[in-house]
Amino acid sequence: MRCADFRTALSARLDGEPTGVPDRRLDKHVARCATCREWLERAERLRGAVPAAGADGPPADWSAALFTRLGEAGGVPGSGAVDGAAGGAGRPGQGDGRQGG
Ligand SMILES: [Zn+2]
Repeated sequence: MRCADFRTALSARLDGEPTGVPDRRLDKHVARCATCREWLERAERLRGAVPAAGADGPPADWSAALFTRLGEAGGVPGSGAVDGAAGGAGRPGQGDGRQGG
């Protein structure tokens, strides 16, 4: 087997798919082959950074943490806490008549 074959099997193992190669043989090659070892480390890191496929939106905790951070940053957009920024001299677009058709 060549390195490419081992990496294919290693990738499948990361995905929890059958590799067709004994784990011991994969581990043995990774232990001896620095190139494949680095490749495997990167592959594992990438998998760790990507959320599980099929997840329906971010988890509730993630959203809650985001809103907490927004609150700490000072003011929620649209709450009208800022004077003068919103509602000045009329709305742009009204009275112009052109809708850009
Ligand atoms: Zn290799």
